[in-house]
Amino acid sequence: MRYFSVNGGAPVPFREAALSGLASDGGLYMPDSIPCLPPEVWNGFPSASLRDVAFTLAHALLAGDIPDADLRAIVTDALNFPIPLVTLDGETRALELFHGPTLAFKDVGARFMARVFAWLQRGERPPLTVLVATSGDTGGAVASGFGEVPGARVVLLYPRGRVSPLQERQLTTGGPSVTALAVDGSFDDCQRLVKEAFRDPDLRQRLTLTSANSINITRLLPQTFYYAWAWTQLDDRARPLVFSVPSGNLGDLTAGLIAKRMGLPAARFIAAANANGGLTGYLVGQEPAPRPSLRTLSSAMDVGDPSNLARILALYGHDRAALARDVAGYTISDDETLEAMRALDRRYGYTADPHTAVGYAALARYRAAHPAPHTGVILSTAHPAKFPDICERALGRPIPLPDRLRAILDRPPHVTPLPNDYAALRDALLW
Ligand SMILES: *Cc1c(COP(=O)(O)O)cnc(C)c1O
Repeated sequence: MRYFSVNGGAPVPFREAALSGLASDGGLYMPDSIPCLPPEVWNGFPSASLRDVAFTLAHALLAGDIPDADLRAIVTDALNFPIPLVTLDGETRALELFHGPTLAFKDVGARFMARVFAWLQRGERPPLTVLVATSGDTGGAVASGFGEVPGARVVLLYPRGRVSPLQERQLTTGGPSVTALAVDGSFDDCQRLVKEAFRDPDLRQRLTLTSANSINITRLLPQTFYYAWAWTQLDDRARPLVFSVPSGNLGDLTAGLIAKRMGLPAARFIAAANANGGLTGYLVGQEPAPRPSLRTLSSAMDVGDPSNLARILALYGHDRAALARDVAGYTISDDETLEAMRALDRRYGYTADPHTAVGYAALARYRAAHPAPHTGVILSTAHPAKFPDICERALGRPIPLPDRLRAILDRPPHVTPLPNDYAALRDALLW
């Protein structure tokens, strides 16, 4: 399959789309045709494992580019943790995407991507420089995912003081192949610096640069897998299925919409945003305009200029009405987020992290407006223990720390402060 840049340019092969991350015209890549799996496939999944379901989608998307045996190995190795669909009540499920090494859904994409890169780069020199702007969770997942891939150097940019202390540990303890840069700015500043590096022809001559943000198509494609997996786990497939997707940079939502194009029988998606708004404004008629990001309790979603909006617009041919038929957008305040955390705890004894709580609150809003019966699946995007202060503030009790998180607290952090300035990033990269 070939991939086109949402900014125009000619389609390129998978390898180029994957390794360059962003097209030279600054656009994000999208598959130039999305394969649709027939209803027999969707209805025939009942006893399939997560890896089988994932391979079916991976094969549809990548069969022409990666041989079956290698692709199966990549899927098997990437998905080495469960993704349970937890029942909250008769019509509400939580799809727990946080059982990977860094306890957030970004492990799925990062692990898959690292293995695809290892396959694409097998035996090649010079090594890759993987450049990542992170609002918190991506960087840790990428550092962990690439830890096992030989020859890659990972450079992480994160907004100093705007990630949780645990996230910061994950970002700064990735080992010798990982450089963490604490930027004096917001996530949007980090993202802008990364984009500027990709537009610097001289830098690109000297380094084999790639991105591991959700701007990279190899991170996005595997996120389709778990939407399909959730569908296979439903006990009542006749009821309309609605996914509530806690959204920041809109990568997860984009993957869901691609899965729908592949035939996933989902009735509707909810773009569940914090005060930054996500897709909400566009859906009600505003023109997309970058805004400075606002700080909220769901900090991994503090994105004022979501990159993947361009992909969603490309997918829907800029047809706002068509998009609004598939996606409803809600904006959830910090107070509502805390209240949702309390409601989940009270009603179901379920401890949710603030991002998942935004998904729950948005689903409740959707239900108030759309009372027809449906199954609501909330994407549970992070483990609550990643955000202990907020959980404690909401629930009035401490959250036990899983062993995996406790271990990284003992590792010494390695971090370099970086001014919010491209020349400084350039120096750090060429050093
Ligand atoms: C990144 C992240 C999100 C937002 O996902 P996008 O793909 O950027 O929309 C939501 N929740 C958590 C915990 C995250 O880390």
